[in-house]
Amino acid sequence: MIELKDVNKVYGNLKALDSVNLHIRKGEVLGLVGPNGAGKSTMLKIILGIAKPTSGTVLINGKVPSEKDWREFKASVGYMPERVAFYDNLTGMETLKLFARIKGTKIDRMINMVKRILSEDILKRKVGGYSKGMRQRLNLAQALLNDPDILILDEPTSGLDPVGSREFYHILKDIEERKEITVILSSHILAELEDKTDRIAIIKNGSIKAAGSLKELYRRLKLPLKLQITIKDKDEVLEGMLRGLGVSDIGYRNGYLIASVPSENKLRVLSAMLQEKERFQDITIKEPNLEEVFFGVH
Ligand code: ADP
Repeated sequence: MIELKDVNKVYGNLKALDSVNLHIRKGEVLGLVGPNGAGKSTMLKIILGIAKPTSGTVLINGKVPSEKDWREFKASVGYMPERVAFYDNLTGMETLKLFARIKGTKIDRMINMVKRILSEDILKRKVGGYSKGMRQRLNLAQALLNDPDILILDEPTSGLDPVGSREFYHILKDIEERKEITVILSSHILAELEDKTDRIAIIKNGSIKAAGSLKELYRRLKLPLKLQITIKDKDEVLEGMLRGLGVSDIGYRNGYLIASVPSENKLRVLSAMLQEKERFQDITIKEPNLEEVFFGVH
């Protein structure tokens, strides 16, 4: 649907984006993950047409967009910037009416969605008294006023506590369930993206180091699985057996034997362990998490 081809963005002598190639597919939830300053916002702004690439191409539906194509595309996008300035002395509802006027739409169309995001009571209050979580919800509500097909969220949960982030993703899930929507969101908080996205693009120093589903990424990186065995005491016989099956990094913590298993040896380790059932209480083999994928990419 949207494709960045060999996109570079230079600010003065700083290369904010370096040969970025990225294809965003219709209906997917794509997470852009990277540390602060990696180039995520710049990438989102180029997708939005707010910033122009220094070189390279942006394609919309497979072709270089005309002015009209850009206009139509922009009308179908909702953008939640990382920071947005609201007037403190307007109420939430007045703020959304103002945004609706700027966008050339009417709030009535989306009023039910707005009320799912912010209660009527909160909408009547002045924005100056809003908590960080309420401001983020207001920011999301303004992005939805044009009933977008594509939602672009820049660090939507930065500054929110875990409860606030959880509520935010609940709302997002609700939106996704109501209509087919493409979501592109950036975050430097890895754990929260694991089960919220279809694909993840890992961005470091202005380039995309890897992109794919979490499963694809850790297969490609050949990251080991994590073995966790509930065990009473150190068991050297078991350790020796595990080493013979390619298990490494064996250690003990909080009543567990913890170790790394090459993914191709998973079933062999499990079946060998079943022969030794009396030596331990429980066993789990976990896939690596996004943090491990992130640090495994160079
Ligand atoms: P992220 O969103 O991953 O934190 P950004 O895209 O905001 O990263 O920034 C990437 C780099 O480009 C940073 O070094 C930032 O300082 C720089 N940068 C971003 N916008 C501008 C700008 N308008 N002028 C100059 N430098 C900028």
